[in-house]
Order: sequence, then structure tokens, then C-alpha cells
Amino acid sequence: LSERTNHFTESVIRHMTRIANSCGAINLSQGFPDFDPPAKLQNRLAEVAHEGPHQYAITIGAKNFREAVCKKQEHFSGLRYDPEREIVITCGSTEAMMITMMSVCNPGDKVVIFSPFYENYTADTILAGATPIYVPLSPKDFSFDANVLEDAMKEPGVKALILCNPSNPSGKVFTRDELKIIADLAIKYDLYVITDEVYEHIVFAPSKHTYMATLPGMRERTIECSSLSKTYSITGWRLGYILAAEPIMERIKKVHDFTVVGAASPLQEVAVTAMNFGDEYYRDLQMHYTHMKTLFTDGLRNLGFKFSEPQGTYFVMMDISEFAKNGIIDDNKFCIDMAQKVGVAAVPGSSFFRENVNNLIRFHFAKKDETIIEALNRLENLK
Ligand code: GLN
Repeated sequence: LSERTNHFTESVIRHMTRIANSCGAINLSQGFPDFDPPAKLQNRLAEVAHEGPHQYAITIGAKNFREAVCKKQEHFSGLRYDPEREIVITCGSTEAMMITMMSVCNPGDKVVIFSPFYENYTADTILAGATPIYVPLSPKDFSFDANVLEDAMKEPGVKALILCNPSNPSGKVFTRDELKIIADLAIKYDLYVITDEVYEHIVFAPSKHTYMATLPGMRERTIECSSLSKTYSITGWRLGYILAAEPIMERIKKVHDFTVVGAASPLQEVAVTAMNFGDEYYRDLQMHYTHMKTLFTDGLRNLGFKFSEPQGTYFVMMDISEFAKNGIIDDNKFCIDMAQKVGVAAVPGSSFFRENVNNLIRFHFAKKDETIIEALNRLENLK
């Protein structure tokens, strides 16, 4: 069997969902909402069920959907992408990242990844024949050392850096100054920056999201991956996209075609409606997520838990050092016990870190008030 598949494990996030389901725990591990998507999308879905389309869209995505995504992107970032040449609609950002890596990397290339990181990046890198090299973010405030980053980026064979912003699992939103450091190094060492910006609209004031591609010199070397999953609460629709300059996109289009042919055409048709939502939709989303974050983190604080305040995303990392036994903390065992005995599932933090960090666990809070409140009631039993 494939040697490559020896070098990464199954997703611990998805594994925790299976454990949560098997013991009936509230699933605060794999991030997805337990509330409905916007009613306008549900209604449009019902219409499209009768009107179609039901056959393949053109491989790179239905023309009206590509145009609508490019228009929405221009509205938020000011960047104009050509809907015929500079976008591919994918099956979620998961496909977007995988086919980007396959299109960019040669065997033996290296890819720089900040740690902690979303698990998929390691598997994507290895499946693309490349080798990940990790740059640690401080587990305290998730800052990075620019010299350590430069040392990694200037290693021979480095082809790209992966940037998840806002960042899963840390909840960090990279500032413009931090992005500038990364961008300047990418230009200096002639690297691509592959972004995962699926949480672009889940940012808590006063933090603000800056698109990497808007930094000077970055439009041509940024490959932006994003998705509709989080912004419109439709993780099961598997709709994402890649925005990049034409020479890069020509390669990506081929890999996309031979990998999946295309994303679901009826869902692309429905999603055009989402792309036409006005600014108030995004303001309400921001308010809703701020409410959920406040409810959950106030609850954790009241219970006396330590955690780092997220600036964006729907994740929070909690410190479980107080549960050490004889000085040892096993975050994997802790999460399994918590799911089985307390009835709340989280993801063991060590699955996100390259370094030996095992005192953190990741919760997500994209849940109805009653789910969050019940989870907090159960977490009281940890004490
Ligand atoms: N990004 C979400 C998480 O980290 C879920 C992604 C997935 O499982 N596809 O939990």
C-alpha cells in the first residue's frame, strides 16, 4: 500500500465526532453549527429541487456562481478576480487546499506551516509529495518569532507557506503587520502563500480580517482558499473555492477536473442567493457569533477554567493543566473521558501541535444557546 499514507494519522477531529456520537455527548469537537442555515437558502433549495439543475455544472463551477463569488470577493477585499480564469469552485475548502498543494508542489518540496495548525495541512502536504516544516506559534498568545519564520522560509526547497487566517484552532486573527512580515518574506524567498480563510466573516471586534492577497505584491503569489460552510452554516453542502492568478489556476483547474469533476450543481445554483446577501447579513452573523462566544467563554470563566480569548473563528482553546495527575496530562484520554463521563466532546490539543503540547483542548461554540448552556452545565461536573 501507499508509503505516503503511513505518514499521517486519521483526523482526530472527525474521530472525536464518532466518539461523541457513540456516547451521546454534546459534540463541541468537530466545528459545525446545530442551527439552520438562512431561511432564504432553505427556500431556494426547495425551488431548485424542482427547477434544477441536476446535471453536471461546467467543471470549474457554474458561470453564474463563479461570477457571484468574484463579485462578493471584490466587495469585501477590493480585489477583482476574473470569473473565467481566476476561480475554481471546489468541494469545500478541503478539496481546495488539497488540489492547490498538488498543483504547487513537486516531490521533495517543503511547505511551511504554523503550529498549532488544522490537521488537514499535514496530510495535504504529504499527499502532494512534499514535506511539512513547522513554525511554532507561542502556546500563550499565538505570536510568532519573525527570525524563526525566516529561517524556515529560506530553507532550500521551500515552495509555499500555509496561512490559516482567522486561525483554526487558536482563534488568532493575524494583524496587518504580521501579514506584512509573512508577505515580505514570501516575496524575498519567492514562495507562494496558500491561505485558508474559511473564517473570514467570523471575527470579533476590535480584530479585523485582512486578506493576504491585498498586501503589496501578494495578489500574484497568494492562492486563496475559502468556503461557504462557516459563513452560511452549510458545512454539509461541501462548497468552496480557490482564487488565484491565471498561471496558477491553469494547473489547479486540471487537478480539480480529474479529482472530482465538479461541485454539486444544484447547490451552486442555490448558493448564488447567498452571494447576493447584503452587508446586514454579515453584520448579523458577526453579532450572532459574538453572542455565542460570549455565552460560552463567560460560562467557562465562571466555572473557573483558563482559556485564551479567541479573536476570530468559532473555537476556543482551554487549558487543562489543573487536571494533571502526578504531573502528567494526557489530553487524548482527558477528551475521551470527558465525552464518556461528562457528556461533552472536545478535540485534544496535541493533534494540532507539532511541538509537545498536551495541556490544551479545543472546543467549538457554533451552537444554539440551549446547547451551549447544557454543555456548560455538564462541564461543571469536571470540577
Ligand atoms: N474545520 C472544522 C474543524 O476544525 C471542521 C472541518 C471538517 O471536519 N471538515 O472542526
